[in-house]
Amino acid sequence: MGPGSGLTSSIGGGPSHHSVGGGGCAKYGACTNQLVSLEVVLPTGEIIETGSQANIHSKFPFNRFGNGPDLAALFCGDNGIFGVKTKVSLQVFPKPEYAGYKTFLMPRNSLEISAQMMSEIRQKGIDVYDLMYIMDLLVRFGTQEKFLPLWDDLKKKRGMIFYTIEANSEKELDEKIRQLDKIMVENKSEELGPEISDGNIAKWHYTEQGHWQFYHNLWGIFPTIQPLTAECFSPIIQYPSILDDIDQWDFEHQEDMQKIFEITKIRCIAGSGPILLIDGTNVEITCGFTSFWSFYNGEAHKIIDEINIKLWKSLLKRVTEHGVQWYMMGDYMSRVMVDIGAYSEEYYNVMKSNKKTLDPKMILSRGKFNFWGEK
Ligand SMILES: Cc1cc2nc3c(=O)[nH]c(=O)nc-3n(C[C@H](O)[C@H](O)[C@H](O)COP(=O)(O)OP(=O)(O)OC[C@H]3O[C@@H](n4cnc5c(N)ncnc54)[C@H](O)[C@@H]3O)c2cc1C
Repeated sequence: MGPGSGLTSSIGGGPSHHSVGGGGCAKYGACTNQLVSLEVVLPTGEIIETGSQANIHSKFPFNRFGNGPDLAALFCGDNGIFGVKTKVSLQVFPKPEYAGYKTFLMPRNSLEISAQMMSEIRQKGIDVYDLMYIMDLLVRFGTQEKFLPLWDDLKKKRGMIFYTIEANSEKELDEKIRQLDKIMVENKSEELGPEISDGNIAKWHYTEQGHWQFYHNLWGIFPTIQPLTAECFSPIIQYPSILDDIDQWDFEHQEDMQKIFEITKIRCIAGSGPILLIDGTNVEITCGFTSFWSFYNGEAHKIIDEINIKLWKSLLKRVTEHGVQWYMMGDYMSRVMVDIGAYSEEYYNVMKSNKKTLDPKMILSRGKFNFWGEK
């Protein structure tokens, strides 16, 4: 399950925050869904193995659940606070012989329609490998900035949706494609040609493993921009209203953004990256706002940093209030959850007491989740 972080991402980092990002995440879910067992060095120096490996006689990892509670779960999505993962066993799957990949231009107001399509696909039980919705603004902006040159010649620069699907026989593939295309066409989407040069980004994503590069390129469009984002999971049915609310938030914070505009002459923008279907009826949302580094045009502008941190927190709070589940939390988002009181007291206390048990001297990943009570 490749994240979009370009050419680097570590094995330990994946399960530590449920990495997910194309490369089969609609079919297989996040990296942790495939986890079989872990070897973890605890902050006390003790080493534990989980699942089948908790039995010292087991010759190799083969199952996650059993031999007691699912201790691996404690370290999945822990953002590195409970121990250092030194071995990770993951399930691997043979690549089926057949695959289909198509990209569709969507009608206007494609946000709600994309959610409708994803729901239909799930209701019909079609096991898409990947499915991504790229909203109108990103298509327009991406082509304008040459991030998506394959869509340069499109007459209508509107939202896009693509799917990839795998099968073990031609017959199976044809049938799955027939069902998927029916959903696309009934929702008034037009198929682009089959080749990458026709705009078929699905083909690039699948056959050339484009998913590794996608976000990396997106966040790197201008050298001076600073993407202030975080990544969360949400049910399909909720993401249209979350994205609408991010637009509303953007509107409400124009005054602060104008102060940055006066320095950079380019407006900051709030929004979301492409929406990825993940396992079950959930999607991954990368959201935030794109601003600038405070060192701009050869000068340091402290005010940019101040506004960035204020607005970033404000936006993350707003999105959290939609009930999303943050997964790539790291230092900042883990603190925001505590600062804005989004954890129930009971949940936070259990997390904190686990931290005290496993890391009594609080030496590992200091600062995350505000366990010291500091801001
Ligand atoms: C441009 C860009 C795009 C990205 N796109 C995506 C995406 O689409 N989807 C996605 O899920 N992520 C994405 N990421 C985030 C991240 O790169 C990936 O999730 C990646 O899989 C994590 O590996 P890493 O080496 O980057 O981890 P790091 O950032 O180094 O670590 C991630 C977390 O895990 C902890 N950690 C790392 N190694 C260990 C270990 N051995 N034991 C215990 N804790 C550990 C760290 O303390 C940290 O909290 C993106 C990042 C970038 C820069």
